[in-house]
Amino acid sequence: MPDIIQLLPDHVANQIAAGEVVQRPASVVKELLENAIDAEATVIKLIIKEAGKMLIQVIDNGKGMSRTDARLSFERHATSKIKKAEDLFNIHTKGFRGEALASIAAIAHVDLKSKQENQELGTYIKIEGSNIIFQENISTPKGTSIAVKHLFYNIPARRNFLKSNTIETRHIINEFQRVVLAHPTISFSLYHNENEIYHLSSSNLRQRIVAVFGKKTNEKLVPIDEVTDIIEINGFVAKPEFAKKKRGEQFFFVNNRFIKNAYLNHAVTSAFESLLSSGYHPSYFLYLTVPPKSIDINIHPTKTEIKFSDEKTLYAILHSTVKHSLGQYNVGPVLDFERSASLDTPYNFKDKKSNSPKITVNSDFNPFKNEESKSLHFHSKQTKNNQWESLYTDTNIHNIEVEAETVNASLFSEETKTNKTYQIHKKYIVSSIKSGIVYINQNLAHQRILYEEFLENITVKEATSQQLLFPLEISFNKNDIELIKEIKEDLENIGFKFDKISGDSIVINGIPTGIIESQITTIIEQLLEDIKNDIPNASFSQLDIMAKSLAKSLAIKTGTVLNLKEQEEIVNKLFICKQPDLSPFGKTTFITINIEEIDKIFNN
Ligand code: ADP
Ligand code: MG
Repeated sequence: MPDIIQLLPDHVANQIAAGEVVQRPASVVKELLENAIDAEATVIKLIIKEAGKMLIQVIDNGKGMSRTDARLSFERHATSKIKKAEDLFNIHTKGFRGEALASIAAIAHVDLKSKQENQELGTYIKIEGSNIIFQENISTPKGTSIAVKHLFYNIPARRNFLKSNTIETRHIINEFQRVVLAHPTISFSLYHNENEIYHLSSSNLRQRIVAVFGKKTNEKLVPIDEVTDIIEINGFVAKPEFAKKKRGEQFFFVNNRFIKNAYLNHAVTSAFESLLSSGYHPSYFLYLTVPPKSIDINIHPTKTEIKFSDEKTLYAILHSTVKHSLGQYNVGPVLDFERSASLDTPYNFKDKKSNSPKITVNSDFNPFKNEESKSLHFHSKQTKNNQWESLYTDTNIHNIEVEAETVNASLFSEETKTNKTYQIHKKYIVSSIKSGIVYINQNLAHQRILYEEFLENITVKEATSQQLLFPLEISFNKNDIELIKEIKEDLENIGFKFDKISGDSIVINGIPTGIIESQITTIIEQLLEDIKNDIPNASFSQLDIMAKSLAKSLAIKTGTVLNLKEQEEIVNKLFICKQPDLSPFGKTTFITINIEEIDKIFNN
């Protein structure tokens, strides 16, 4: 019998390895960003087209590569980052396996341009499926640009397995966020289909978190700061009242590397204990620094798992630290701060700020939950109502009557005189309030009202739906149909009913009350567009984007004449909103002018 075992040719071995390293466009993003960081870049730009299916490009201003290194970087097990086995136990770089570029080049078209600081010319290599098409000199700025095109072009099964652009983009943004949160001092930008999605300047950690998740994040953060012999913990946890239904913003970094670890997650979550309603997850951004020797990051090529040599102690320290910080910030009941017996490391809390802001925890938290919480929700609306009423004087109606009469009775219709609101310029609703006068932007206010209604409908209850007399068929392209399938359940919660969703069209037989049949197509198209271009912000959830999009489409427009009943409805509904002062897109919905300010103008 002849021998039958053969060594696989390199390009086949690379393709197999690629399956491990590159699951989707986001994996390429991660590898390229990490290489740029390892190259000590201070400015890194990520350019994506078609969710990375067409192009993923990372441009950095790092140290670049020589002609030979550039060529070698595409060989398997070629790395500048470790030299010998011992180095594995002392890793300070992101990469060390030397397989990312080889794997990527095996399954895509890659253009690499790179130049080192002291060189006149740089080098340009073009590779397609592990084959070097050419390498030549080129004039290019210092640093490296790697463009990865047509990912999985030679593995159709993989390519077809990719999810919709929305989902793949989300994966990319997730990776991007993990990297930028780990490196706040590096400037990053992200462009998707020519739109700038992120532009993050060099900053401190708090600023970086706020830049990624939105301005409102700032007030949510409780700092964590702890140094012990075996670990240093920095970062922030979000106050319990900002906990989320979805496990979204939970970030652990170990030596600046994003990791997932259920055990440590439990250490943090359990520190919140009774502060959270069940089903809610705290947000956190925690940075653990440990000696490289004490961890083994070598257990998986994609490296989000990690092994600690002393997990139990880490658990105890982390748990106590978070609990302590929450206590320091008065977030919750008095915390007994006894150390568990297993925790016998030297343990000194750093000086903490003495005057910490008071935080009231809403014990009725989670209005969106089942039976018991429906009444809670009602309760909270009641309270809000009272607040709203207190904004008006107890004699608000008389108030306006008097005003109207004293100005010029003929200016107002009979009807207006007896009511507390009126509309000006088909744009603003004006009303007298206890402290003076309020101007409400009808369009922005209505957006806020609808947004909160939709969110509630999506998350809690079935919305009312109106049956269409004749089912409506609308055609869409494949991508959009996929997207509609993804969000079908949410659309149904808002009040859409689908008769059929086929390969290229949908048939609708029910729509949310308040929508006019002729608007449906535009509204759904707009919705899909918004989801596709979703610019991530604080909440970063598809539901949120849907609610925003629908609110924007359906809100009463500027230029619409409103009768008194409609005006009042807007005023009343606005002020029972959770956040009446801002539109879902962060614009001011109303302004007030105090009577003192008016008095001042008249020198009274
Ligand atoms: P690893 O990062 O594990 O070493 P890679 O395949 O990702 O393996 O990269 C191979 C080598 O190519 C790196 O060790 C590094 O020397 C070089 N390299 C890759 N990307 C860059 C870059 N953006 N700037 C400078 N050198 C780079
Ligand atoms: Mg690498």
